[in-house]
Amino acid sequence: MKSFYHSTRSFSQPVTSKQAILEGIAPDGGLFVSDGAFDDLVELSDMLAGTYEEHAAEILGRLLCDFSAQELSGCVRRAYGSTFASPAVTPVTPVGDDFLLELYHGPTSAFKDVALQMLPQLMGVARQGDGRDIMIVCATSGDTGKAALAGFAGVEGCGVTVFYPHGKVSDVQQLQMATQTGHNVEVCAVEGNFDDAQSEVKRIFGDRQLAGRLEAQGCVLSSANSINIGRLAPQVVYYFDAYGQLAKEGALKLGDPVDFYVPTGNFGDVLAGYYAKRLGLPVGRLYVCSNANDVLCDFLETGVYDRRRDFHKTISPSMDILISSNLERLLYYASDSDVELVSSLMDSLAKDGVYQVPQPVMDTIRETFSGGKATDQETRATIARTWNETGVLIDPHTAVAKTVLDATEPEGRVRVVLSTASPYKFSAEVLRALDPAATFADGFKAMDRLAALTHTQPPAQLSGLRSLPVRFTQVVERPAMTQVVEHACQSVFDLSDAEKPIAPEAGSFSATESQE
Ligand SMILES: *Cc1c(COP(=O)(O)O)cnc(C)c1O
Repeated sequence: MKSFYHSTRSFSQPVTSKQAILEGIAPDGGLFVSDGAFDDLVELSDMLAGTYEEHAAEILGRLLCDFSAQELSGCVRRAYGSTFASPAVTPVTPVGDDFLLELYHGPTSAFKDVALQMLPQLMGVARQGDGRDIMIVCATSGDTGKAALAGFAGVEGCGVTVFYPHGKVSDVQQLQMATQTGHNVEVCAVEGNFDDAQSEVKRIFGDRQLAGRLEAQGCVLSSANSINIGRLAPQVVYYFDAYGQLAKEGALKLGDPVDFYVPTGNFGDVLAGYYAKRLGLPVGRLYVCSNANDVLCDFLETGVYDRRRDFHKTISPSMDILISSNLERLLYYASDSDVELVSSLMDSLAKDGVYQVPQPVMDTIRETFSGGKATDQETRATIARTWNETGVLIDPHTAVAKTVLDATEPEGRVRVVLSTASPYKFSAEVLRALDPAATFADGFKAMDRLAALTHTQPPAQLSGLRSLPVRFTQVVERPAMTQVVEHACQSVFDLSDAEKPIAPEAGSFSATESQE
């Protein structure tokens, strides 16, 4: 039983973790959970020795039981061996009396790399029993797309096609995607906004005719979104590894509780902290930190999850979200595996946009979780204050969590803020927080100015973008997205020329692809 995953909404049709990773979401729309995953606690003292990679292999072995130790250590080596700029992968550094867990030293300078470097490796191994080629299709508002491209580039038997809304991502984000290398990647701008691109991607996933044509050629579409257990599991690792770093530095003794402050959107990052707690990590409290999109914060206070509210565009855009999908997993565990309850709550969310969680379940959730929020104005003030008082430069997402930490009484426990992006990924906003007179439309000018003002260095993979060749320039209308996907499958998986569909009219495929 231990190694099996099933839906949060039913116990039927159990699958292995490899199948769960390939399928992403359960057939009934629920999320994959496993009941035995927390039986085998992690030895804290193991975190005092060994590398991040060794810790990762050990912890992933608990959560993904049907991968062999050898498979996992191979995945971990390929995911983290040479892709992170810090030898510690996710170093813990001081900020005043507290600590930052820096999750942004991967290839795209944001925390999604930790999971999206690993997921493709896990998928690559999982598909070996299946034999079909996998095309990942993804709509992005900026960050996830680049992290998916960087993670899947070059992975055997996998390809990735990313759509972003034309003219609606930052110039740095656009260049990050348009300069991506690798034979198995495709990037395409779409007319319209993010939701337009996203809803067309959802339609493509449900397009039976397309699926049939691809299936005939041995290819299936899949997604890399944050509900995949293959993205969640790698995030559990850095909570344990950080604890080990703190113990080694003498900041705590083994067994001391630690509070984590987590900038939250889809609830993946903070849920991984709960998994770590269930696996034996002495977690004190987990602070769910929100920007003006404070649906989770209100939920923790009232027990009512109500998405019927205005959506706010903030300076921490990766947390601008009204439905935090991964919360469904917490509801499953906190209700003691009550799949009927979870199904009915998710039904009301879909039908009415709101649900209310029974009191005993809320009590369980509140034993571990607290909420906190920050406005954009508070977030900017925190960036400036943190820089002025501690000499540490933080990005707006990290600053939301730091705002919540600064507003909370310390109570003597070790406190860690999860730092989810390099400040240089959001140079213009960070610069504006430090110097309200400095307003730059050009992201690279803001980057240079921020470096000069703070005597810090932008990560090479961001500052170096200016000189990389642009590979992808195609812009299409929504209806052409299906053809883009189909054509990408053809060219990535090298199917016979005769079977290749005609490239979309607006496209410039041959020109962009020949630059590889
Ligand atoms: C995605 C993201 C978050 C939110 O993480 P969730 O797992 O979705 O809660 C926070 N900060 C940054 C920079 C992100 O990219």
